[in-house]
Amino acid sequence: MKVTFLGTGAAFPDPERGQSGVLVTLSNNRHFLLDCGAGTTRQLVCAGVDPADVELICLSHLHHDHICDFPAFIITGWMFERQNAPILLGPKGVRHFSEHLFEDGAFKGDFLARSHYQARKDNIEAVRPDIREMEPGCVYQDDDIKIIADWVEHIPREISECFGVRIEAENRVIAFSGDTAPCDAMIELAKDADLLIHECTFPESFIEYRKKTGVGIHAHTSPNELGRIAKIANVKTLVATHFGHFDSTSPVLKKAARNHFPIDLMGPHLFDEMAADIRLLYDGPLTFARDLLRVEL
Ligand SMILES: [Zn+2]
Ligand SMILES: [Zn+2]
Repeated sequence: MKVTFLGTGAAFPDPERGQSGVLVTLSNNRHFLLDCGAGTTRQLVCAGVDPADVELICLSHLHHDHICDFPAFIITGWMFERQNAPILLGPKGVRHFSEHLFEDGAFKGDFLARSHYQARKDNIEAVRPDIREMEPGCVYQDDDIKIIADWVEHIPREISECFGVRIEAENRVIAFSGDTAPCDAMIELAKDADLLIHECTFPESFIEYRKKTGVGIHAHTSPNELGRIAKIANVKTLVATHFGHFDSTSPVLKKAARNHFPIDLMGPHLFDEMAADIRLLYDGPLTFARDLLRVEL
């Protein structure tokens, strides 16, 4: 089994990172996609994977940096001769999201133009996802793979649900946090996992800054907290991801971030601080994800 990180950034467009997207590929070449933020479809191609070969996509929550490439993913699959409806898992609201995109939604013009041709009529199922809104528990299972999901704590649930997932396949376990503050549900999903893929959006020093300046609530996991989660869950390997652009040197991003961060302190050196803080409680293998990183399990 193999994990390919397609996008490792957060909500801003980032010259160095795509938005959230993680591909799980089994040894028999079955592909399962977690999240579909900006650039995910192109990154699949960069990774040598045909988007039409991805049979299931699971959206952790409906923030745009986790879903906004979904229309491109579906329409590309349609153009690339996908023959079956892709399975779409997501929180409550994902049905509304998907059903308002294609034949009677935002991309109706594209749908009408392409479906005018016989070749696209012949595989029209490709643009009609098999939508399944998730409830906590087992959300998908077949002979090769089991996917378990639970609510995590990121957006108040009454506004919009957020899920973390646990994937069991080939006698291995992968856990993926989506976006979340530290929570028991994620620790449970990650219990004894071979690989925990967990968000770590800001370094501790930036979180302190945000608290002092009153910039928004911090509904993410800090490096100290992530170390504690990895330790308690007893994970074998930890990959941190969903970095909130604190490492960027882009003048455009610095301008956009000036009300959120101490922008003079931004830069890649902050990964040293982040590693030291995760390491306060977790001493296993640790990797900071970058786009197109592959992890073999
Ligand atoms: Zn996010
Ligand atoms: Zn989010």
